[in-house]
Amino acid sequence: MTSIVVLGSTNMDLVAYVAEAPARGETVTGREFRTVPGGKGANQAVAAARAGADVAMIGAVGADDFGVRLRDALEHSGVDTDLLRTAEGPSGTAHIVVDDDGGNAIVVVPGANGTLTSLDHGDEALIATADVLLLQLELPLSAVTAGAVTARRLGVRTVLTPAPAQPLPDELLAATDLLVPNEHEAAALTGVADPHAAAEALLRKVPEVVVTLGAAGSLYAARGAAPVTVPAPRVRAVDTTAAGDTFVGALAVALGEGRPVPQALAWASAAAALSVQRPGASSSMPYRAEIDAALA
Ligand code: ADP
Repeated sequence: MTSIVVLGSTNMDLVAYVAEAPARGETVTGREFRTVPGGKGANQAVAAARAGADVAMIGAVGADDFGVRLRDALEHSGVDTDLLRTAEGPSGTAHIVVDDDGGNAIVVVPGANGTLTSLDHGDEALIATADVLLLQLELPLSAVTAGAVTARRLGVRTVLTPAPAQPLPDELLAATDLLVPNEHEAAALTGVADPHAAAEALLRKVPEVVVTLGAAGSLYAARGAAPVTVPAPRVRAVDTTAAGDTFVGALAVALGEGRPVPQALAWASAAAALSVQRPGASSSMPYRAEIDAALA
């Protein structure tokens, strides 16, 4: 089985469903409220586990009820949490408003995630066992960079989701094998709005880039090769929360299994398309058999 380690965030998603998101200074009445285990790291971990990999998570939950639920949810999905710390103070939270068009607006408060500033020998030993290390930017950059540098030293493939968008240290980029921004993140990182041009610009920093384009699919670019556009299956989206995390989790599994990138992207696209047709974040993520069936 492919072995994936995720170095990333756990957040309790506090989700309000509304007809239309409120403007600044406005109050609207929502229809429904749910607490859902999330965080980009945890979401990618669950996506990869459901897609059929052996997954372990390095991160931190808080010493509160949310922390207990976040850890339980990962374990329930089969994710190893031995190196998931319990930090003092609150767990990370994400305050999400989902509107009737399935669009969302999100505020993330890092909480316990912010306490993970460096890695220890146990983390390094775990990373050494991985085929792929998945990273995002909801942990302190010092820890993310340490993880990428460690993986690079150990010959472990690194896949970085640069979200939430922020300037990336050269040291982190130099240790990144595959960068997977969505089109907004690609534009923020490069100052270039066109995804093709942004991908070209990012290839100066990393050897491979996938820009996700929502319902328009994704764009794969590698140094020295022509860019490839991978269409997304046409489906009716009801909730696009965590589409990108589902995509990356499944992509990592396929790459870890040694599949060629175009094939891996088609599989990841099928997984993400299944997830957007159902409400929820990790609860909407498909299992391996469903992804295979969608492509059959
Ligand atoms: P993020 O969730 O990070 O903002 P995207 O919106 O680009 O990222 O979505 C990630 C991937 O999920 C896309 O590349 C695509 O494969 C899939 N996806 C997203 N929205 C849809 C949709 N409406 N229909 C089909 N696939 C989708």
